[in-house]
Amino acid sequence: MSTFQAPKGTYDLIPPHSATYLAVREAIAAPLKNSGYGYIETPGFENVELFARGVGESTDIVTKEMYAFETKGGDRLALRPEGTASVLRAALEANLHKAGNLPVKLWYSGSYYRYERPQKGRYRHFSQVGAEAIGAEDPALDAELIILADQSYRALGLRDFRILLNSLGDKECRPVYRAALQDFLRGLDLDEDTRRRVDINPLRVLDDKREAVQKQLAGAPLLRDYLCEACKAYHEQVRELLTAAGVAFEDDEKLVRGLDYYTRTTFEFVHDGLGSQSAVGGGGRYDGLSEMIGGPALPSVGWALGVDRTVLALEAEGITLDIPAATAVYAVPLGEEARRVLFRAVTELRRAGVATDFAFGGKGLKNAMKSANRSGARLALVAGERDLAEGVVQLKDLTSGEQTAVALDAVVDEVRRALS
Ligand code: ATP
Ligand code: MG
Repeated sequence: MSTFQAPKGTYDLIPPHSATYLAVREAIAAPLKNSGYGYIETPGFENVELFARGVGESTDIVTKEMYAFETKGGDRLALRPEGTASVLRAALEANLHKAGNLPVKLWYSGSYYRYERPQKGRYRHFSQVGAEAIGAEDPALDAELIILADQSYRALGLRDFRILLNSLGDKECRPVYRAALQDFLRGLDLDEDTRRRVDINPLRVLDDKREAVQKQLAGAPLLRDYLCEACKAYHEQVRELLTAAGVAFEDDEKLVRGLDYYTRTTFEFVHDGLGSQSAVGGGGRYDGLSEMIGGPALPSVGWALGVDRTVLALEAEGITLDIPAATAVYAVPLGEEARRVLFRAVTELRRAGVATDFAFGGKGLKNAMKSANRSGARLALVAGERDLAEGVVQLKDLTSGEQTAVALDAVVDEVRRALS
């Protein structure tokens, strides 16, 4: 071990385990790529103000969890705690919304940073794959995103997850509800912090994890009873489309994203095998966000799925992904001349698209064959002086142990045949 360790709340992705992470990212991205979403990548840091406005001054993310700093040049930046604000910022900056093709559908994959209390499933550096559909108000779009997330999880083999669904209303009906909720909450016995939250962000109080608070919330007014006709109709369509797609969900009227620009559809994916860090993903509509960051009105919807927790969910369900061995062929040279010849064969195989590795470091036969087996390769290419004198190399099937001599100039063809 070196003098240094990974910073608190972070961990390294190490082979072979790291292959599972890659596979999870790919599994989440695949349905998006297949549904008209284009890949977007934004910087790992942004102007801190973007998040203050685009995530919300009253959220834990901004008040407690953000890595904000000032640069030597005096810029006030923050490591990105989430993806939506950056993606919308980038889309507006590139005028994607003016290209006449709405919604703009984008997907992303990357690292996010939050200064949290580290525990299983909650890290200071974590990974998300997300999707945003910008500039359209259409219940089919909300449904599409939920269906695609469901498809990703199912493709990974996950079964013990649930989809929680709610509507947060819009700028017509939510303020009325907000006031009613505030009235109710002000009659409760709450600590000072929570009372402050009642003033700034009352919906968020519904999300309080403490049992004592939850008990008092039993009779709280429900948004459901305050939704305007338009919001009700919209939500009903989302529900119908999900049902028609065979995607099961649970109505959860306590599910909130308590920000002013989050509107209508909101949802969360929870996994029952993860203990208290049960949310594997979440999202919803954010019709007001574009205007909050200085853009035009652009009703939008999106989600972000947590890669770390999805990997934990796989473990919880005992699922091992079927990841093909990284190496198909392993070359073992015996002697200097063989090194030169086999290294050239390795390069040729790689150029032909065959995953190939080589016994580096002048290993002896026994050690090199151990490495070959450990690599997961199906075939070994072995050559010594005598083979080279005859213009052949030995092609060894590592499963059966069977060995055949193949002509040096036919190696690529013979390997392909043996692998097919
Ligand atoms: P939680 O309520 O667990 O804090 P959140 O509401 O803060 O989650 P979002 O901002 O909606 O989470 O992020 C989407 C997903 O990203 C989460 O569902 C989760 O899977 C993942 N995620 C969020 N924060 C972390 C973290 N600190 N460590 C690992 N994964 C995280
Ligand atoms: Mg959080």
